[in-house]
Amino acid sequence: MSSDSNLRELYQEVILDHSKRPRNFGRLQGATHHADGDNPLCGDRIHLELEMAGDRVKDVRFEGQGCAISTASASLMTEALKGRTREEAEALFHQMHETCTGQPDTNGAGHGKVDIGKLAVFEGVRQYPLRVKCATLAWHTLRNALAGKHEPAHTE
Ligand code: ZN
Repeated sequence: MSSDSNLRELYQEVILDHSKRPRNFGRLQGATHHADGDNPLCGDRIHLELEMAGDRVKDVRFEGQGCAISTASASLMTEALKGRTREEAEALFHQMHETCTGQPDTNGAGHGKVDIGKLAVFEGVRQYPLRVKCATLAWHTLRNALAGKHEPAHTE
């Protein structure tokens, strides 16, 4: 079996698992940051809440409705974020962007590399440009939440 088909299988497995049983789904008591995201091309909507303790993500939860990829991406993002600093969260955003698009993200220059772990399966969306917006919606929403922007994040 080639590593390509291994990745495809892992991608499908992870997406299916997290879209059926999203982790950290619901409202967060004591949220300090929040933002909404909207991907009208697919109909994905997300509401993200974070509790920051100083510079660190203490807790994070999301609610919303969308396709399997947007839900799985938000679920995996919440798992990846707990305990991370703002800077690590920003670095993850840029690496996730690169993973999904296959393009080096020039805005990300200067951010350290962090181990993105399971998020690497999103390499699987590269073949489907419309799906990239589904996979990155939660991450755009995260950036707005951390920046204190409360207008909905769009994927455009
Ligand atoms: Zn979608």
